[in-house]
Amino acid sequence: MDEALIYQEIHSAIAGRRLQPGVRLVEDQLAETFGVNRMRIRSVLRTLAHDKVVTLHRNRGAVVAHPTVREAKEVFAARRLIEVALAPEIVRVADDESLARLRAHVREERRCESSNDRARELHASHGFHTLLAELVGNRVIIAFLRELMTRSSLITAAYERPDVSSCSHKAHGELIRFIAKRDSAGLAGAMLQHLQQIESDLILVERAEVVTDLRSIFARR
Ligand SMILES: [Zn+2]
Repeated sequence: MDEALIYQEIHSAIAGRRLQPGVRLVEDQLAETFGVNRMRIRSVLRTLAHDKVVTLHRNRGAVVAHPTVREAKEVFAARRLIEVALAPEIVRVADDESLARLRAHVREERRCESSNDRARELHASHGFHTLLAELVGNRVIIAFLRELMTRSSLITAAYERPDVSSCSHKAHGELIRFIAKRDSAGLAGAMLQHLQQIESDLILVERAEVVTDLRSIFARR
């Protein structure tokens, strides 16, 4: 299998949360899975590390990136800057066909939510944000937003509350209403609120590693 395909496979497993933050990516196992040698796998892992999806440790090898609280806040700050600023452009370019695409996407999100498959649901709801950037068509912004959305998936996997999902078809339906009304100030305001809501629903606290004092466990009483 060629490196670009292996990259895609691992990347989508991480974005789709089949591989959770912190999981070790063992070179031998990946080499066997994809039928290539370890050098190829190592090269793919380096590219994934460059794209901030994987972290390379000197001793432990590669693990799925576990974003820090600071990183999470920076990713959301960047999303606010870009996604809110895109509002006038989105309103300017959106025609009936784009509105139909957005509405179809929201219907898909609703289907995914009722399937109780959180990974699928999240993938669909994140896709909505990329789709908005795609409407505008600036390839630099699309690539940047895709990276931010992948990192957002890792952040959500690491810090979400199990019972809360604010990036959902309900909020997205509201955004579409502003686009249909050609209200760019309304869209900008609603997008800002949406992103703030998503961030405030996360539990952004650095989790200390669980350290167990083995001596206390085996201490003679
Ligand atoms: Zn959303």
